[in-house]
This record gives sequence, C-alpha cells and structure tokens, in this order.
Amino acid sequence: MSKFPARYYDNLPDKRVRCTLCPSNCAIKPGNFGNCRLRKNDNGELIAAGYGQLVSLAIDPIEKKPLYHFYPGKPILSTGPNGCNLRCPFCQNWTISQQETTTDFVPPEQLVEIAEKRNSIGVAFTYTEPLIWFEYFYDCAKLLKARGLKVVAVSNGYLNEEPARELFKLIDAANIDFKSASKEFYKKTCRGNRDDVIRTIKIAKEAGVFVELTNLLITGENDSDKDLNEIVNLIADIDPLIPFHISRYFPQYKYNNPPTPVSTLKKAVEIARQKLAYVYPGNYIDGSDTVCPDCGRILVERSGYSIGLPDGETQNCPGCGRKVDIIW
Ligand code: SF4
Repeated sequence: MSKFPARYYDNLPDKRVRCTLCPSNCAIKPGNFGNCRLRKNDNGELIAAGYGQLVSLAIDPIEKKPLYHFYPGKPILSTGPNGCNLRCPFCQNWTISQQETTTDFVPPEQLVEIAEKRNSIGVAFTYTEPLIWFEYFYDCAKLLKARGLKVVAVSNGYLNEEPARELFKLIDAANIDFKSASKEFYKKTCRGNRDDVIRTIKIAKEAGVFVELTNLLITGENDSDKDLNEIVNLIADIDPLIPFHISRYFPQYKYNNPPTPVSTLKKAVEIARQKLAYVYPGNYIDGSDTVCPDCGRILVERSGYSIGLPDGETQNCPGCGRKVDIIW
C-alpha cells in the first residue's frame, strides 16, 4: 500500500508530530492517528492515511448537498472520507464520520474519469468532513479544474487559515455548516471553535467561492429566538445574500431530543427571512422555492430534489429586472 505524505505539520521531540491542518492542532505520537482518524504519525512523519479512501461514491442532485443557487437541477458525483475533526453528538452521518467503516481506494485520475463518464458537473466532497482530506481533495481539485469540471465542498469549515486559503482557491462552491452562534455550543458540544468556522466562511467568500450555509435546528439546543437572531445577524454581517438552509433535526447518534417541531422550523425561517434574502427549510417539503427578493416572482420551483424553472435559466428577474443570484 502506498504512503501519501501529509502537509501542514511540525516535528516535535521523540518523533511526535503536531498536525496544523485544522484548529485541533493534534500532537500525535508515533503509530497514532489524529482526532480525525485521517492522518497518522508514521515513525515521525505525518501521512495522509485516508488518501483516496472513499466511504461512498454516488451521483446526487446538487440540491441534496444542499446547494440551491449553484447549477440548480444538475447531477454531481459525490464522495467523502471516513473521518471528521469535530465530535457533534447529534451527527446525522455518524456511522461514516465518527466510527471506522469500510472504504474503497480510488486515485484522483479515476475519480475525475468517473465524473466525466457519468455526465456530472464535477465532484462534491461531502458526507463527512472533506477539508481534512486535504491532500486528496487538493490533487483531485487540480485535475477537475484542468478538465473544466466543478469542485464543491460540503464542510464544517473547521480548518486553519493557511490551508483554507490554499484549498478554497480551487473550490467553486461550498455549503458550510454553521452549527450555532454560540461559542459555548461549538466548544462544549462539538469540540470546536466558532470563530475558526466564521473565518473559513470569510476566506471562502474572499476567494470567490459561491457559499451557502446550513444550520441544523436541534430541539432544545440551538433553536431559541435568541439563537436564531444571533446566527442570522452574524450571517447578515458577512453577506445577506448568502443562501441559508435551516434543517430539521432527527434523533441520531448520542442525541434523543425529539425531532425539530415543524412550528419551530417555520418560526426560524421567518426570523431569518427578516434579514437574509434566501432562506430555505431543510428536510421539509414546503417553502423551498427560490423567489426574487425584490418582487417575489418564483425563479426556481422545488419539490423534493426536483426543480422547475418557470422562466428558464434567466439572468435577470422577468418580474422586476433584478439580477438573479443564481449560477446556471
Ligand atoms: S486534521 Fe486531523 S490530525 Fe490534523 S489537527 Fe485536525 S483533527 Fe488533528
């Protein structure tokens, strides 16, 4: 089995290493893995142990990522690694992110060929936490760009600044999970740091990446009016045109809190729409159309993952002439 050297680490005494890819900054002893299980100290050298090891490979509608304003209705080849650098006890994908599972090795050239053969617009790195798959993500992204294909990331945004600046240069669109406005929630519940995630969102925007955000509305945890108002204010300060998905939570992994009541989801969407132009309920059927924020004309109709375009792929709203914030 080939060894793939990892980037972003420092050597420490006694053949230990410090990985500096994400803000966990793990100090790793020889033979051990970092918190994410994707990077391993191999006798004093950090290796990308999860390089090319895919936990899943499927064609998904891009709406499933979710991305609603980036090539609506188009299929995208989707894959991800077997690991994550956060420890959210409500993880909706915990069987592949928080525990070891079987993977298949697919080298970058082959992944790109599969995307081309299956008429995908590109590859979405998703399902678990793909940014810490840094070396594989980077190699695939370079090849995808060279062939004119799109690079999409669906991520928790928990990455250090330097690697984030390097990787986002190669990314076309991203959906970043913004779990809560509360620093304490990030720290105690997810073992992360809110401000590092906000920095990543800003880096992505600065790099010209098309960004959408998702918040999972967890019953009794981050669903108060105060929580919602705070997160909406933080997003509005970055850019009120960022599409924002508020998703219904269902009990998973270590959490038994009841599913998000529909009334709470609707109230959250209402609060967010006071300051943000494009707000969508997730894991719920109604209210997902994209409407012009100025005149209310429906630009994209959605039913599950199917879409309808009453005016086609228009660049300006036929109702009022406003430029449409959608990449077709
Ligand atoms: S990427 Fe993995 S090994 Fe590196 S600091 Fe983050 S959790 Fe630790």
